[in-house]
Amino acid sequence: MTTPSLLPQHLDLAIVGAGPQALTLVTHLLQKRSKWRHRLRVFDGSGIWLSRWRSQMQAQEIEHLRSPAVHHPDPDPYALRRFAEFRPQELFPPYDLPGTTLFNDFCAEVIRRWDLHSCVYPGQVCRITPVQRSQPCFEIILQDGRSCRAHRVVLATGGGVLQFPDWVQSLQGEYPPDRLVHGNSVDLATANVRPGERILIIGGGLSSGHLALGVARRGAISTLAIRRSLQEKLFDAEPGWLGPKYLKSFQAESDSVSRWQQIQEARNGGSMTPEVAVQLRRGVRRGEVRIEEHYRVVRAQWQAQQWRVECSDGSHLEAERIWCATGTTLDIRQNPLMADVLATYPTQIIQGLPVLDAHLRLPNSQLFVMGGYAALQVGPVARNLAGGRLACDRIVPAIVRRV
Ligand SMILES: Cc1cc2nc3c(=O)[nH]c(=O)nc-3n(C[C@H](O)[C@H](O)[C@H](O)COP(=O)(O)OP(=O)(O)OC[C@H]3O[C@@H](n4cnc5c(N)ncnc54)[C@H](O)[C@@H]3O)c2cc1C
Repeated sequence: MTTPSLLPQHLDLAIVGAGPQALTLVTHLLQKRSKWRHRLRVFDGSGIWLSRWRSQMQAQEIEHLRSPAVHHPDPDPYALRRFAEFRPQELFPPYDLPGTTLFNDFCAEVIRRWDLHSCVYPGQVCRITPVQRSQPCFEIILQDGRSCRAHRVVLATGGGVLQFPDWVQSLQGEYPPDRLVHGNSVDLATANVRPGERILIIGGGLSSGHLALGVARRGAISTLAIRRSLQEKLFDAEPGWLGPKYLKSFQAESDSVSRWQQIQEARNGGSMTPEVAVQLRRGVRRGEVRIEEHYRVVRAQWQAQQWRVECSDGSHLEAERIWCATGTTLDIRQNPLMADVLATYPTQIIQGLPVLDAHLRLPNSQLFVMGGYAALQVGPVARNLAGGRLACDRIVPAIVRRV
């Protein structure tokens, strides 16, 4: 990694977060205007590209992506397929889903080819403050106290606030903190899962499935507690959401509340891929996995070194650990980076999501938003790799044409 030694005092463009969405933006921008390389910085606490992406895939021991090989950060949709020419065994059926190692190697190649190592500045951004001058800009303040100013900012921080079920808030009594954690905090390699241990996994999304299979590989027993029946879907949202088939009418809808409802219906909560569902059922037959559908936990209590969990139908189960694979909530008002910005640029917010302009900016500002926060404009795939590309189609023209 080459680290820039100095933090420039003035930037044309500051991108907060060095995940896949930011990488997609930088390659698309440089393809249009290569001179922008010297005008931008990407800030990430880790100081490197894709650190969170890599660690989340590794933590859940994910063999291949859920999205097909056309979705990746390079502007050429076929670049990953070409990269895989001599590694065809790393494209998985049914739609050439890239293996995790293949995808990561490809991204490393994209970073090398576009010469992007030195774009990332190691710094956790803790505040973004609008500065009102003849030409308004933003002060980017890092956790270590350093700061710089930027004319334009792109928020590409991914994530969201970890979401826990209601009953977790009302847990009574003490319990060892590592006995109940969010699924996103679990790293299977270091979780020290013991053979025979019983782990209750809450949630019916793909992360629950990956975690349950990881538990089974270690000779432990997982119970998947799913609020409804196990939903099987190839993708998070139907491919029609990547193009005009669904996006045309979505974008023609002027009511943001209705757009939000369409997003919920399209994503329809957590789902597993048919492949993971098959592996889980195999695990059920071998006695390594239990799947409890229509299962609602109402209460849990830590007693005698185990959880006693009560379900809404009055039944009980015991487990040594609980992992809540219950996703994250995106509410821009809860994002501390956005407090000063939202105070300066009043923005309509629907269920936590900002109503942005056509270029994904907060109204009347040069602060752009990528990822899940941009869903009211980009649609249900906003937080996915494909959403990064859709967001670039809107952000890049505004940056290069300075509109
Ligand atoms: C287990 C798992 C598997 C997934 N698989 C797929 C898949 O196969 N296909 C798909 O399309 N999507 C998948 N997703 C969705 C996935 O999260 C996104 O595609 C991708 O990670 C989104 O990229 P991003 O850049 O928005 O966010 P992230 O990958 O989260 O990157 C954001 C970056 O911002 C940095 N950051 C955050 N706050 C700050 C700050 N204040 N200052 C500086 N830096 C900051 C973080 O360190 C992080 O590196 C998966 C998600 C998970 C959890």
